[in-house]
Amino acid sequence: MSLEWDTPLFQQAQTQLERALVTAGVSDFVAERLRNPERAVMFTLPVRMDDGTIRSFPAYRVQHSSVLGPTKGGIRYDLGVSLGECAALAMWMTWKCALLRLPYGGAKGGVRCDARAHSQAELSRITRRFASDLAPFIGPKQDIPAPDMATNEQTMAWIMDTYSMGKGYAVPEIVTGKPVSIGGSVFRHEATGAGVVMVIERACGRLGWELATQRCVVQGFGNVGGIAATELYDKRATVVGVSDISGGLHDPNGLDIPALHAHVAANGSLEGYDRARRISNEELLALECDILVLAAREDQVTGENAGSLRCKLVVEGANGPTSPAADAILAERGIPILPDVLTNAGGVTVSYFEWVQDLSRFFWDRDEIRNRLAEKLGDAFDRVWELAEERSTTLRDAALIAGIREVAAALEARGIYP
Ligand code: NAD
Repeated sequence: MSLEWDTPLFQQAQTQLERALVTAGVSDFVAERLRNPERAVMFTLPVRMDDGTIRSFPAYRVQHSSVLGPTKGGIRYDLGVSLGECAALAMWMTWKCALLRLPYGGAKGGVRCDARAHSQAELSRITRRFASDLAPFIGPKQDIPAPDMATNEQTMAWIMDTYSMGKGYAVPEIVTGKPVSIGGSVFRHEATGAGVVMVIERACGRLGWELATQRCVVQGFGNVGGIAATELYDKRATVVGVSDISGGLHDPNGLDIPALHAHVAANGSLEGYDRARRISNEELLALECDILVLAAREDQVTGENAGSLRCKLVVEGANGPTSPAADAILAERGIPILPDVLTNAGGVTVSYFEWVQDLSRFFWDRDEIRNRLAEKLGDAFDRVWELAEERSTTLRDAALIAGIREVAAALEARGIYP
């Protein structure tokens, strides 16, 4: 049966699920329940522009599974946002939370808009209207949004304020990834990118590589890619290529990552930086290197270009950057992939720490959070690595099997209502 969210990205998520189900050993009713989201809501947001006109923006929130607890997932602002995209990303969030043993299911939402084309005042009105329309469907025990592509601490602050106005008191635990001044957690901003590098370090340990001698390429220079590049640079790895939507930069001797951040802070993107060779995003993906970090967006390595990659390890900082066709080609070529559900889970893990701190109104320091994150990611990494070895599967299949089994055990215990 074809449902409204049945798009290529959702089919990618379902194909991965079906592959994992073959070995996960879960009952038929569990598999059937997990194939589709529990709930999907669509909105049309009417928003007044700065010139006085009204524009309509499609917006979505999809909740995939509430078996283990409230649903959790980001809100993105992008012209590609659709019901199918949110459904795929929500499903991946379920496996990610379960793999990390967080008491959450997966959700995802967003507004179809070009965030860069709007003023802060317009973004504030888009966000507040979205938060207001979303209010009946979210809650600290129900569904807890977080930032994603083109949304940030400010977006979360507007959602928290709008939701709190409706309640009549401050509800910091309604969102994560908000400013520290209103109950955000220290280290949340860096958590996803820093977590990506913690997983890389762990993988290097298993592969017998030393991180400091690796040459790395990072696609995407936003929250995830920008921080991952900094962490790699700080750990003395050589970052030979980076890119963003404006294109890529290459320097075989290593890029000056702090200078690139200063350039982006001053100019909004990598465009115009003249201390490295400019290349296209296609060329960036084909650069010779040891570690390729994909931290831009979904569907970047496909059946078309997977054959031209010249790295030894692919690292998924973004969600869904490698298509199933590319997975098969890379497996054939013997290039392992550190899968998204494991590798970028640092964000949701520190979001979980933020929610716990908000609920108890008791805050932890940076070292405690960093150490707890390293412990959680390390534990999940070891389980995935060992399962992949035991079953002779890819790391992606092992990560999905491990995540699905956690959800399945809970669903088996709870059963289907009524
Ligand atoms: P962001 O908006 O901060 O950064 C995205 C970066 O990718 C920007 O530098 C942008 O210019 C670049 N980019 C966009 N399209 C590109 C393209 N076609 N080619 C090259 N570069 C391109 O977003 P983010 O928060 O860093 O998220 C990136 C990815 O990581 C997304 O897939 C997101 O779902 C995933 N993710 C984010 C978090 C988080 O905590 N922010 C957590 C888990 C996963």
